[in-house]
Amino acid sequence: MFPERVELEDGLNLLLLQAHPTEAEEVPVAQADGRVLAEDIISKENIPPFDRSPYDGYALIAADTVHASQDTPVSLKVIEEVPAGYAPVHRLNPGQAIKILTGAPVPSGATAIVKYEDTNFTEKEVTIFSPCREGSNIVPLGEDVREGELVVEKGRLISPALVGLMAGLGYERVRVYRRLSAALLSTGDELVPIGETLQPGKIRNSSIYTIASYLERWGVKASMLGIEKDQAQRIAEKIREGLSDHDFIITTGGVSVGDYDMVLESLKILEAKILFWKVKMKPGMAFVGALWKGKFILALSGNPSAAAVSLFMLGKPLIQKMAGMKEYATEEIRVKMLDDFPKKSPSRRFLPGTLEIVDGEAWIRFARKQGNGMLNPMRDCEILGEIKAGSPPMTKGSIIRAYRFF
Ligand code: AMP
Ligand code: MG
Repeated sequence: MFPERVELEDGLNLLLLQAHPTEAEEVPVAQADGRVLAEDIISKENIPPFDRSPYDGYALIAADTVHASQDTPVSLKVIEEVPAGYAPVHRLNPGQAIKILTGAPVPSGATAIVKYEDTNFTEKEVTIFSPCREGSNIVPLGEDVREGELVVEKGRLISPALVGLMAGLGYERVRVYRRLSAALLSTGDELVPIGETLQPGKIRNSSIYTIASYLERWGVKASMLGIEKDQAQRIAEKIREGLSDHDFIITTGGVSVGDYDMVLESLKILEAKILFWKVKMKPGMAFVGALWKGKFILALSGNPSAAAVSLFMLGKPLIQKMAGMKEYATEEIRVKMLDDFPKKSPSRRFLPGTLEIVDGEAWIRFARKQGNGMLNPMRDCEILGEIKAGSPPMTKGSIIRAYRFF
């Protein structure tokens, strides 16, 4: 026996409890964008690697300038010039200064930098008119990143900026989680491949292409196993085949309660462990989460919007956890409704819409055409608005929860 008609959150937990991050591999840092970090990035160096000057000016010993004023200026002998990229040769002694350029290392013995603008200078001599504070204008070694510091934790999605940061820290290669692979199977006697002429009663297999596209966006390699008829034995064989060389499988169709809904039957043939069947939400009620030999089977409705909503609400967090991400909760925001929702809603509903910013506030505009089984409503979907179970008709301006959809 298994739970039936579960709350979305409970179903998701049942899936997440069984999910583990995949193994790690090493890639050149230049190929790491979009992957998930599988190691903590710890700095092996100080950045900057030496005390450095943030200005063009003169390095000096602050103690030499304590009595400097407009009336009693202090003159120091310039003994060297250090451009960026070069190390100073001399050590400073009292009464001396070293000309220094932005980014150059502070000479040993120096305890402050004075900017050009605050001095009078010739090639041989620099004159100071006020005392310099110890340490002023010296960027200390390690100010940006300290050696041994934890810079980024594992489980983070790698961004282009992070690629650059890791390169700056001397990481030529980096450990990331292996990309997941998914098998995709469409089931239904009515389905024909995209390119075929439609015979009476047939429709084109479309839902699976949306699923494949989302998976690719989330970093999963998706392979299509094609279409299978509504026959439990054949579906079971295809699932077995798909799971033999993929991390998980997603099927569409055949999971509601009709006579021809054969996916549940096929899971029984396989002796898969069914985690739950059906979720209390619309669309996306028809759903089975199951495990076979430690691999997930996500059986979605064939209905295009239902498949997309369950993939997003249940599949995405699961995939992100398996992909090694530390944070995989669906992002939630509050929005105001730009339209009425004129029906009572006994069930919890997710309505696709676009996010509109009006006077700095977030609003949702519901998709104009919303019908069961339509391909259209999800087309421009940016967020899913949530209508709670048991809601009365709702008017424009009502505040609801919504989920960023991508
Ligand atoms: P089912 O999930 O099998 O109950 O199907 C629900 C609805 O979605 C039915 O109208 C099916 O014809 C349709 N459908 C099933 N699979 C697909 C698919 N791969 N692409 C488009 N529509 C589908
Ligand atoms: Mg069907």
